[in-house]
This record gives sequence, structure tokens and C-alpha cells, in this order.
Amino acid sequence: MVEEEFEYNDVPKLVEARGKIRSLSKRLRILDVLEYYELPYEEKSGGRYMMVCPLHNDHSPSMNIFTENDSGKDSWCCFVCNDNGDAFRFIQRMESTFTEAVKVAESILKKTGAVSNSGKQREALEKQRLAKKAFLLQHRLGIEYRDWLISLRGKPIYEKAYQKVYEIYKQIEEYLEEEQWEKLIKYVHNKQEKLQEVRSSTNKK
Ligand SMILES: [Zn+2]
Repeated sequence: MVEEEFEYNDVPKLVEARGKIRSLSKRLRILDVLEYYELPYEEKSGGRYMMVCPLHNDHSPSMNIFTENDSGKDSWCCFVCNDNGDAFRFIQRMESTFTEAVKVAESILKKTGAVSNSGKQREALEKQRLAKKAFLLQHRLGIEYRDWLISLRGKPIYEKAYQKVYEIYKQIEEYLEEEQWEKLIKYVHNKQEKLQEVRSSTNKK
């Protein structure tokens, strides 16, 4: 199909087109392609589908669709057309020119890839933001506890308070290790409030 559109002597263009096909084929998923053309398909067994072949006058499903088969690539095969190929070749068969096929392939990739990428990116950024906040909060709480313990030095309550802070930091360490940022933030807020209560009540005495 590519050869049909380029002069056989225009080797650089042909090589460029082949490179483009390889890169598109690697990323395209056949089911995304079928959804783009709004072609219904039916699952037969894990990863294998059947559909009415759009490439010939088909009445009963004679096109096989394989997703991520042994070669690691999606493919299709129609025994009536005696034709087969990967996801990009399917687009090529549906479109009249190579340029059109590339355009369709890129729009499918943009639609499917872009959405999941930005979603993942947002998730990662949100996690980063929470982690930063959690680190800062527990660090600040640590300073408050240190000041509190210093103020208690020499008093009978010191030993008990020290033990308590030790237990709290063991829990904080656990949250840090498990990257449970939301739980950690909630926990630190709670301990901060308690510490303020304790400090104001001991100040009155
Ligand atoms: Zn067919």
C-alpha cells in the first residue's frame, strides 16, 4: 500500500514512511481502532474477537481479531478476503491513502493515549503534593514536641511524655514508609490539636 503511493525510486520517503508505520503499529490497539470506526465485535475467548468483515460484503462474522497475541502485537485476519495485518494496516485498508491512514492513526492515539497520560500525570502530581505536605507537617510537629519535651525536663511527667512522643513517631514512621499521606496528614493534625490542649492545660497549673 505504501509502495503504491511512493515512487519506487524515492527511497528516503519510503524509508521514512516505513519508520512511521513501525512506530504507529507499536502503539495502536486494534480495539481502539474498531471503536473509532464504530465496528461491533464479539469476544470469543481471552483476547480473541470475531466481527463482520468491513473489507468485503460479509454477512456472518468472518474476521478474526487477536489482541496482544504471541507476537505481542494486535492483529486481524479475514479468511474470505485472504487478508491480514496489524492495527495500522487495518486503518490503511479502511482509508484511501497512506496520508489519511496516518492522520486517523494519530488521532486515535491522541484520543486514547492523551487522556490516560494526563490522568496519570494529575494523579502523580496530587500524590507529590500530598507527600510534601505530609513531610512538612510531621517535621513541624516534631519541632513542637521537641520544644515541649525540653520544657518538661526535670519534671516527673517527662519520662511519660517522652514515651508518648516516641510511640507517636513510630506510627508516623509507619505511615511514611507506606506512603499513606492522607492518613499521615490527618494523624499529625490530630496530634497537634492534642498537644496544644495539653500545653494550655499544663500552663494553667
Ligand atoms: Zn473480509
